[in-house]
Amino acid sequence: MVRGNVPRQPAKTGRQEGAPREAALKTAASSIRSRGKASPFHEPAKTSAVPDKKILAGRVLSRKKKTAPAQRYNPLAPERLTEILKRLDQLYPDVTCALQHQSAWELLVATILSAQSTDLNVNRVTPELFRKYPTVEAFAALAPEQLQPDIYSTGFFRNKAKSVVGAAKKIVSDFGGQVPDDMEKILTLPGVARKTANVVLGTWFKKSEGLVVDTHVTRISRRLELTKSTDAPKIEQDLMKAIPRGKWILFSHQIIWHGRKLCVARRPRCAECPLENLCHAADKTWSTVEIHKSATW
Ligand code: SF4
Repeated sequence: MVRGNVPRQPAKTGRQEGAPREAALKTAASSIRSRGKASPFHEPAKTSAVPDKKILAGRVLSRKKKTAPAQRYNPLAPERLTEILKRLDQLYPDVTCALQHQSAWELLVATILSAQSTDLNVNRVTPELFRKYPTVEAFAALAPEQLQPDIYSTGFFRNKAKSVVGAAKKIVSDFGGQVPDDMEKILTLPGVARKTANVVLGTWFKKSEGLVVDTHVTRISRRLELTKSTDAPKIEQDLMKAIPRGKWILFSHQIIWHGRKLCVARRPRCAECPLENLCHAADKTWSTVEIHKSATW
């Protein structure tokens, strides 16, 4: 009988020795299950060319099934970023800052007060605050303790009072009573870091100096794999590289609104989200694409 055509005999142990077929099938099935569906932005990985069959002396010695090359995912692929921006434009075409304000100064105060608070909470406080102290000079004339009761409900009221009064004094003494429209100068104001500076420069002065990185922008940028960092300055740098400068102001507002409406911190509303098939976030509540464990915040 030709070698290779002999039927395999049962082993003496009562079970077939060699490759544990059942175990192999289980492993394959679980691997298929865990593979999931890839988003459209996977790139073919560079693999060495492996012939699917070896022919020697006119005989096929071995035949390997041709498999599709492994896909390598690039979250910053230009097509993916363009698609994210397009869908955000459709979803939030003309959103802006939710803090009520009538001037650069009012926006600056409201932004300082919004730290560790909600815009809604700040908007409850500021109308009365600006009626009581209608100019930057009126704030500059206060001692921080005088301001504390007016802003108490926004939280961290002692530090915030110190920042607002300190900023008012510096604006009056160094900038002629006008909020500076320059990144370097605005950062010299007490209580003003890049987030506040970007809100005021972008929203009031329409200057694209950077992106606003707040809790929503941090969370969603990480879920969408636009950054791997948890550090606000680094996140801003990553976004500045990924997003075209002309989109920085609007993108910041769109992501903040997305964070309030759909991509909320706990139980994001993924089934309603137009970015769903572009998003591989580890804590998605519903998904048609594979999940990336590292896409977490
Ligand atoms: S799919 Fe879910 S996690 Fe991803 S951006 Fe949308 S709401 Fe956020």
